[in-house]
Order: sequence, then structure tokens, then C-alpha cells
Amino acid sequence: MASPRVLIVEDSPCQAEYLSVLCRACGISKLSTAENGRVALELIDKAETSFDILICDLEMPDLDGIELIQWLAKRNTCSALIIVSSREQSLISAVELMAVTEGIDVLGSIQKPVPQGALEALLKDYRGKAVERTKGACCLNSALSLQELEQGLAQHQFELHYQPKICMDNGMLHGLEALVRFRHPARGLLYPGDFIELCEHKGLIDALSFEVITMAIQQLVVWNQQGFAPRISVNLSGRSFSNSAFTQDVMKLLTQAAIAPSDLIFEVTETQVIGNIGEALAFLSRLRLHGFGLSIDDYGTGYSSVKQLSQIPFTELKMDRSLIEGVASKSHLQVIFESTLSMCNKLGIDLVAEGIEKHKDWEYLRSAGCHVAQGYYISPPMPSYEVVNWVHAGMPALHDKMA
Ligand code: C2E
Ligand code: MG
Ligand code: MG
Repeated sequence: MASPRVLIVEDSPCQAEYLSVLCRACGISKLSTAENGRVALELIDKAETSFDILICDLEMPDLDGIELIQWLAKRNTCSALIIVSSREQSLISAVELMAVTEGIDVLGSIQKPVPQGALEALLKDYRGKAVERTKGACCLNSALSLQELEQGLAQHQFELHYQPKICMDNGMLHGLEALVRFRHPARGLLYPGDFIELCEHKGLIDALSFEVITMAIQQLVVWNQQGFAPRISVNLSGRSFSNSAFTQDVMKLLTQAAIAPSDLIFEVTETQVIGNIGEALAFLSRLRLHGFGLSIDDYGTGYSSVKQLSQIPFTELKMDRSLIEGVASKSHLQVIFESTLSMCNKLGIDLVAEGIEKHKDWEYLRSAGCHVAQGYYISPPMPSYEVVNWVHAGMPALHDKMA
């Protein structure tokens, strides 16, 4: 991967020089510096190619780090952000949370003096995420067309990958989340970020949901015949809330396959539910009435209240990755996690931590009493045949983690 373009925004010349030295030591060759937020904005506006990473101090004359972050959010910048500051950790964490809430891709924050290892780790993280991002990008640059989507559905070019969910107290398999991929004949393997929104806008989302549910049910039949009986979670779009035939149509598929509704969990995101609480209540209550599991996905990215959530008969809450990443070391994330866990315990529903990548976060979540874990730390999503091998091999690597 090419060296990322980095902009250091720092008012102290000697700190700016120190950060430049650290960056060069990490192999960054395309470096620019700005002595405050205003100069940074001018550089960003003038630059022919956008900066990949901004390393930003908070206290600066003229336009400070917080104002700069707000400006960047308004401009929908795609630069990733690293915050560096000599101020107290609680203040740094508050600014980090503000940036995440504003939609900025925050790699992390470091308290000054900046240790080389800490900067190196965040830059490494950026490179890892950049590889992930390119996985989601279409190999042909043009947008997918309606015809390609329709053809994909008609010719069954969609497939499911499954990511394990693990019970944190005993290491047993709790279930699998089905994540859809589009094996496009010319563009290669496409990820949901490339086509879900388009399916929603082109009125194809229900057709895609049925394709996904049909594949999940067929997979359950095959696995059940092999003596493997996991519960499968399927993601739904809020656009389906207005489809009054949805529940009956899914029930027909299940009856034909002799699969119980309790073997499926439907995931809907917090934002979709809150955006349409009336229809969501009717749609989700009907699903629950038939015995399906219900999960609130990406919890923490919307602004639902406990009152709104407790009105919907969810059986599971999935805490968004943005609230899990770094939870072991960030006290504000621990406060959010602990109060959410207490709420789930009182409501009698499972709390799933999404997107666990690091050993320290896994350890914290386990000791804090989190019920279920999902994330690359345990396993990435896998094709169905790999799932069986993974389970038959005794879910490798989990033994050490449970020790
Ligand atoms: P989601 O339901 O929150 O699924 C989790 C996403 O995070 C998946 O991305 C998964 O591959 C990724 N992930 C899992 N563990 C980690 C981790 O440790 N670190 C990081 N960085 N990422 C992790 P994916 O497969 O690209 O799916 C993205 C979103 O697309 C899903 O988010 C879901 O909202 C939507 N989606 C996926 N399949 C379907 C589907 O069949 N129907 C609908 N309507 N939406 C779907
Ligand atoms: Mg999900
Ligand atoms: Mg999620």
C-alpha cells in the first residue's frame, strides 16, 4: 500500500518537528504541517489530493482543534483523525467522542508526550482499515446499475458469509450472523456497503431480504442434517417495515423447510427503528409474536431512549463497534458499556459486543460480564463450509482466549 498523506496540525514548532520525526520513523514520507486549524483548512482546500490522516493538537491559537474537527465534519472529509494533546484524558476522550458522533473516522487519541509505539500502533491500524476499505470498493469504478442488481438476484449471485457470536462465560457458539455478499461476474466480490443502499433506493430490498432469508433457511436445513443447529441472525432494512406481507411470506418459507422461527433472529439498526417508531413497533411485534428473535443492531449510533427501546420486544442488543473499540482503556466507554449491560440485565435481553478486535477489550468485556462477543478477534465472517470446519476444529484459538 502507498504511503498515506499525513497533515500534522500543531502550533508548537518543536512538537510539530517531533511528530514529523516519529511519522518518518513509521515510514510516512508524504508529510505536511500547519500551525493551527485555519492554516490546516487552507492547506486542505488547496491540496490536489486529500490528506489520508490528520494528526491534530487541540489547544491552538486562532482556530483550535475542536473547531477544526467541526469544520472537517461539515465538509464531509474522508481523512482519518488522530488527536494528540497534553490535556487530561477525560477531555481528550470527550473530543474523540464528539468527532466520532460528527461522523469522522477517528483512529485514536494520544496524550502528550507522544510515545512512538502509540503513534505506530494507530498508523498500523489505519493501514489495516485501508485494506478493509478497499475490500468494500467496487473493482470497476462506475456505480452498480439497477439491471446488475436485478440480474444478480435473478441469477442467484448473492451469497452469505457467517460470523460467529460466542457466549463470553463459557466460550460456546451462541449463533451466527449472516452477512450478504454479491459475487458479481465482472466486478468480483462486493460487500454490503456497495449495494444495500442502492437496493433500498431501487425498491429491491425486500427481494434481497427474501433471497438472504431463503439462503439462511436452506443452510439451516443442511446444517441440521449434519447435526449442527446454530441460530442464524439476518439483517433487515427499515424499508421492510411497511411490507405487511413480510411475516407471512417468511413463515411460509419456514414451514416448507420445517425450521422453527426461533432459529432466526432479525437484526434492525437503532437508527431505522427510531426513524420510524410507529411502523417498527407493528412490524417487529408481529415478528416476535411468531417466535423470531429480535435484535437492535449498531446500538449507540442513534439517539433512542430507554423508554423507546423497552417498548419494542427485542431479545438482544448489539452494541456498536464504535463503543467497543478501546473500551478497556477509555473510562467514558466503560460507563456507557456498564449502564447498557445493567439495562439489558434488567430487561432480560442478551448484550452482544460487536467488532471486538483487541485482546484487552475482550478481557475487559469478559470480566465486566458482557454476555456475547462478535468480532475479528474471534473470527471474521466465513463462507458456510469454513464455519463447519471452524466449529469441528473446536473453534480454534478460543481456548487460549477463555483461559
Ligand atoms: P452489521 O450488521 O453491524 O454487521 C457487522 C459488520 O461489521 C460486518 O460488515 C462485519 O463484517 C463487520 N465486522 C465484524 N467484526 C468486525 C471487527 O472486529 N472489526 C471491523 N472493523 N468490522 C467487523 P459487512 O459484512 O460489510 O456488513 C456491513 C453492514 O451491512 C452490516 O452491519 C449490516 O448492517 C448490513 N448488511 C449485511 N448483510 C445484510 C443483509 O443481508 N441485509 C441488509 N439489509 N443489510 C445487511
Ligand atoms: Mg448486524
Ligand atoms: Mg452492527
